Parts: sequence; structure tokens; C-alpha cells
Amino acid sequence: MDPFKGRVLILDDEHAVGRSIELMANHLGFEPKSVTDASDFFEAIRTWNPTHIILDLVMPGMDGVEVLQRLGAEGCEANIGITSGIGKRVLHAAKRSAAEHGLHAIEILPKPFSVAALSAFLSVDQQEPTEKRRRAQLTPEIYEPVTMSDIQVAIEQRQIQLVFQPKIDCMTRMVRGFEALARWHHPVRGIIMPDRFIPLSERIGLIGAITNQVIELSLDWYSGLESNTHLSISINISAKTLGSSDFPDELEMSCKSRSIKPSQVILEVTETAATDDQLLALDMFTRLRMKGFHISIDDFGVGNSTLAMLARLPFSEIKVDKSFAMTAGSFNESRAIIQSTVDLSHSLDLHVVTEGVEDAETLNFLEEIGCDFAQGYHIARPMPGDKVIEWMARRTEDYRLNLL
Ligand code: C2E
Ligand code: CA
Ligand code: CA
Repeated sequence: MDPFKGRVLILDDEHAVGRSIELMANHLGFEPKSVTDASDFFEAIRTWNPTHIILDLVMPGMDGVEVLQRLGAEGCEANIGITSGIGKRVLHAAKRSAAEHGLHAIEILPKPFSVAALSAFLSVDQQEPTEKRRRAQLTPEIYEPVTMSDIQVAIEQRQIQLVFQPKIDCMTRMVRGFEALARWHHPVRGIIMPDRFIPLSERIGLIGAITNQVIELSLDWYSGLESNTHLSISINISAKTLGSSDFPDELEMSCKSRSIKPSQVILEVTETAATDDQLLALDMFTRLRMKGFHISIDDFGVGNSTLAMLARLPFSEIKVDKSFAMTAGSFNESRAIIQSTVDLSHSLDLHVVTEGVEDAETLNFLEEIGCDFAQGYHIARPMPGDKVIEWMARRTEDYRLNLL
């Protein structure tokens, strides 16, 4: 058995600094190695396979951001601690850039740092297998690109099914509705996620057929849900669907035939859909709103919406993009964006949902700042329709026991 808890690789141009971190890491039960230049560093990454990396960001003749980029490109799986005497703001920006390059478990270790800070960093649990690692373990054919004829077959054979993710009230923690999310059950490849077939279906003109099936499946499931009157059903609608002038009447008929009130249905459209053709969007949203449907602007904050558009189009809800909640624990900026979006939404009389809530702290923060609703893995992952009743019963019990 390896006598060490892990291997720590240190890159710092000052040998003495590297050496002192080595001593601390060794004291904490880790095998350390320190290097002072990038070529030795990448050589050690290849041959020594460190579990943890401590990287000085600012070194003469070397660019720490470039080192992070290269680590990302090489698919580095180690926990990374970035350190430097420069200000925290720059360290935070570097952390963000590292995350965007696909690196994970990135910690900031401002200099000079203590044994306690190093100990906290080194005790970060070995993370769950990343998506990349997981994919590498699967057979490659699963990740071959899907084609137009695959999608045609999926539609004809009704291979697209739905999962549902709950949305809760931040203050009372009660369930307020569900969002329907598409999953393609491929007979050979297994479950294919929407990011791999929705954008393609939009490009090749097959999204309309998919949207129709998703609407029918969502409404069928929802109308079978007992006492659904206080719950909403959110359905993602592609921009392309908004181009069809029959859409509001057809949707109204689909609801009517199942005795569903349009006011229980929320249509989620992305910012891009709303900005592509503003006049078309204005007409379509107005017709839908006149029939009683609600419209939510999805992925808010990452597209190119303008404040004017928010005021002009008749939305009922803003859905803050999940990237903000997912980083709210580490970045003041993310919290500031969520808070100002909540304030903005309320001043425009809109409800606001924050999605991507992955921990209790973020949910508490949302409650504090007055966000209306929350959605995310901390509350529940998307689940098949037949699991929802069970989940709601468990949640009611947790609520009764004051566990939420
Ligand atoms: P979206 O509408 O923004 O949906 C939210 C996505 O975030 C879902 O991914 C959901 O599983 C994921 N998610 C929820 N909570 C968390 C969390 O706490 N952490 C993280 N990391 N992720 C979370 P999913 O199901 O893969 O869907 C991806 C996108 O595909 C959706 O993004 C939506 O734009 C699109 N999509 C899904 N179903 C449909 C559909 O029926 N029609 C259309 N047009 N688009 C769809
Ligand atoms: Ca959505
Ligand atoms: Ca979203």
C-alpha cells in the first residue's frame, strides 16, 4: 500500500518557497516534489501523476494562466491550489479561468500560507469521477455524434422521454412546480442528453416535432398528477417553435383536452430566442400571455438580453442561469449578479427562479436576498415521472420533521 496520502507537485520559481511547502506537505503525510520551471513541471505531470498541484501564478518568464490552460487542455484531474502574493481578485479571476478550462477542485491559497491552509487544501476529498473520466470508461460508440436520420427515427419511434425537476419556494421550501427535461432513450447508446440532440434538431428543422412530443408528454404526465392545482409545469420551447403562428392555438387545445389551465403552464425560452427577432417574439408572447400562459426567460445573464427587452416583452419569470448559483459559494461576483437580478425582477414585477442550486448555503443565501424560487441538485435531480410522487411524499415527511 502507498504509505503516502497523495502526491503534491509544487511549481514555484523560488526554490526556498517550494522547499518549505514540501516540508509542510511531507509533515501532513503527502509525498512532495517541487520544481522551478514549466518544462520540469509538465514532465512531472506526465511521469509522476500528482494528486495535488500547488502553482505559483506569477513567476518571471512564465505565465501561470498559460500553465492552467495547458493543464486544462491535457485533461489534468489533480486538485489544484493556486497561490501568489498578488491580490485576491486576480486569484479569483484565475480560478474562474481555470474552471472554464475544465479544471476542477481549484482552491485559492493566498501567500504566505499556513500549514492549516495547506492541510485544508490537501484534505479535499478525491473528487467524484469527472464527466471526462466517466466518458473514457464508456464505449466510444456512445459518444459518436448523432445524425439527422437518428433523430428522425427517435421521433418516429417515440424514443424521447422526459424527466422532471422540482422547483421550490425559497422561503417556505414547498414544491411549486416541475420543469420537464428531455432524455433520448436510444436502444443501443442508452440515454442521450438534450445538449447532444436539441441544438442539432433546431438546425435541421426537426425541433418542431420534438417540441410537440415534449408538450404532449409533459401535459399527459402533469394531468395525471393528483392535486396539481398548486403546481406549475415548465416546458422548454425552442426559438424555432415561436416562428409557427399556430403554436398558441395548438397549445391551448392540448391543455383544454386535458383540463389544464394555461395559467399552470410556464414556457421557458432562452434569451437568444427572445432577442433573435424581437417583433416576432413580442407578437407571440403577447398572444400566449393573452391566453393565460406564463413565459420565463431561461439562462438569464449569459446571453445578450438587454434591459429594454425585459421591459418590453411580457415575461412572467426570470430564470437566472445556473452558472451563477453554482459558483455563488466561491465568488462574490456571482452572488452580486444573483442579488441584482432578484432586485431587477421584483422591480419589474417578475418572479425569479435561480437554478443550479447545489448546496444548502446557496439556498439559504437565496432566501436571504428574497429570491422567489430555486431549482437544483441540492433540492432534487431531474427524475422520471413515476418517481415524483414518491419524492414528494418523502419531502412532505422531511418537512413535517423540520429537516428542510
Ligand atoms: P435548461 O433549460 O437550462 O435546463 C437546466 C439544466 O440544468 C438541465 O440539464 C438540468 O438537468 C441541469 N441542472 C439542474 N440543476 C442543476 C444543478 O444543480 N447543477 C447542475 N450542474 N446542473 C443542473 P439538461 O436536462 O441536460 O438540459 C440541458 C438543456 O437542454 C436545458 O437547459 C434546455 O436548454 C435543453 N432542453 C432540455 N429539454 C428540452 C426540451 O424538451 N426542449 C428544448 N427545446 N430544450 C430542452
Ligand atoms: Ca429551462
Ligand atoms: Ca436554464
